[in-house]
Amino acid sequence: MNDPKNDLPMSVDTLAVHAGREDLTALGLHALPIDLSTTNPLPDIEKGGDSYEALATGGTPPENGSNVYARLWNPTVARFEAGLAQLEHAETAVAFASGMAALTAALLAFTASTGKRHVVAVRPLYGGTDHLLATGLLGTEVTFCNPDEVTGALREDTGLVLMETPANPTLELVSIADVVAQAGTVPVLVDNTFATPVLQNPLDHGAALAMHSATKYLGGHGDVIGGVIACSEQHAEMLRPIRAITGAILHPLAAYLLHRGLTTLPLRVRAQQDNARKVAEWLSTQDAVEQVYFPGMNEDPAGVLGTQMAGPGAMISIRLKGGYAAAEKLTTSVQIFTHAVSLGGVDSLIENPAALTHRPVAGDAKPDAGLVRMSIGLESPEDLIADLARGL
Ligand SMILES: *Cc1c(COP(=O)(O)O)cnc(C)c1O
Repeated sequence: MNDPKNDLPMSVDTLAVHAGREDLTALGLHALPIDLSTTNPLPDIEKGGDSYEALATGGTPPENGSNVYARLWNPTVARFEAGLAQLEHAETAVAFASGMAALTAALLAFTASTGKRHVVAVRPLYGGTDHLLATGLLGTEVTFCNPDEVTGALREDTGLVLMETPANPTLELVSIADVVAQAGTVPVLVDNTFATPVLQNPLDHGAALAMHSATKYLGGHGDVIGGVIACSEQHAEMLRPIRAITGAILHPLAAYLLHRGLTTLPLRVRAQQDNARKVAEWLSTQDAVEQVYFPGMNEDPAGVLGTQMAGPGAMISIRLKGGYAAAEKLTTSVQIFTHAVSLGGVDSLIENPAALTHRPVAGDAKPDAGLVRMSIGLESPEDLIADLARGL
């Protein structure tokens, strides 16, 4: 594929297969190469120094320069970033060792580095995100609020607004454009992990940053931890020095797996979503189930589904009439589902958010003890339904 900037607009399916691979033909390669060098030869002292300066201050390696040191820059990671950026309709992307490392860098870049220590966080959020903000570990002060309360939560020193849609674990849909409008000049970070760039592109709706736990759908096979933020080059220049100084860069082997994972992302997401639709419909007919939480079955007053988000995705939560005891029985009697946290892989997972992923979430914001969250995989939906029937 030629330079994407000179080309016709391409569908997500084509980009998933080709984006970030533009330099391979000139290198005489077809598959993605993995560069494991921790250090790189310097052409001469001056060019070495210029390269170091460019990378340490958030830029990219200069022409005929050096990558200097792998905590600053790695070409395998950079290729994955270029690929993901195209899928997210972003100028660039910055990849991290985990989703939480990405979030940490965003918080440091937009609070500590700017002198604005306040963050507005729209609940519900991923448990780890909620916990990091609630503890104030990074020197931030947080105001948690509902999606329609963002303007009222803003302060003079608000550096970042944070939101997630579909929200975890209740899969409520939040209008990105509405939160962006309420945030005014404050940049908005959207955790796009659940939707993936196949179903939703936050930057198209005014968000400044689209974050992913790449551990989930982007990797898709449950064998790699990573995080990534798609954004403008200007914002990337704020994130990269923090990544360098805190040592949070993605490992090149992980970058290789994530980049390879992108090729099948649209196929996986659509197939898993089709399965989830069937499982959610069946669950909604079951007596033991008090409520099914699935986009399309939930209320959607802002009309997000079909506009901001192309489909419901492949995550389902249910609230069981039998509460915690029923959740215990369901999660331990399934045989095809794995009773485990995480999501987005080719195999189906099931867990109880109150006991696990949302355990550190305080008081009122904690999910119901009878809530069970499922990540639907690529198995036959009929087999998944039979497996759930056993546990209900
Ligand atoms: C898993 C997850 C994270 C954290 O990502 P890690 O890769 O585990 O650090 C953040 N947000 C959401 C929505 C997640 O599911």
